[in-house]
Amino acid sequence: MVIEPKKVVLVHYTLTESTADGQQIESTNGGEPLGFIFGVGMMIPDFESNLLGLKAGDTFAFGIKAANAYGEYDESALVEVPKNMFESDGKIPDGLLEVGRVLPLTDQQGNHFQGTVAWVGLEKVKLDFNHPMAGVDLFFSGQVEQVRDADPMELEHGHVHGSGGHHH
Ligand SMILES: [Zn+2]
Repeated sequence: MVIEPKKVVLVHYTLTESTADGQQIESTNGGEPLGFIFGVGMMIPDFESNLLGLKAGDTFAFGIKAANAYGEYDESALVEVPKNMFESDGKIPDGLLEVGRVLPLTDQQGNHFQGTVAWVGLEKVKLDFNHPMAGVDLFFSGQVEQVRDADPMELEHGHVHGSGGHHH
């Protein structure tokens, strides 16, 4: 059975920056494989196109440029806001505004999004709304562990059940 749309795919992979020798970003080695339903929009399209047609046991190694992964870094997504918008009861909670901290935010329409604290001044804070991996060229290497049909419940939920997926 080969990887094609609506198959459940389990892979072990290591993600590094730019090349196979680049800095490691994450790896499933030593843990559960990554499980996903192929072709339903869960994954980066270029990630899927590089796995299409592979079968269990096949290995892979390919790069994806930032523009085709999480996007180029966008300077305009670095936004300065007044520090006092983070006050509750007139005080900024201890440790809230630390560089690198990811803050869950809600806009006036009630949409949830995340911003990373990039800079903290006396009265203002710079939040970075870029994806943490924006501007990073990705390199994936690994091996296909399993390819199987997705069951109807998995297709309905849009995710994998059992190994490499949701346990519920
Ligand atoms: Zn489910």
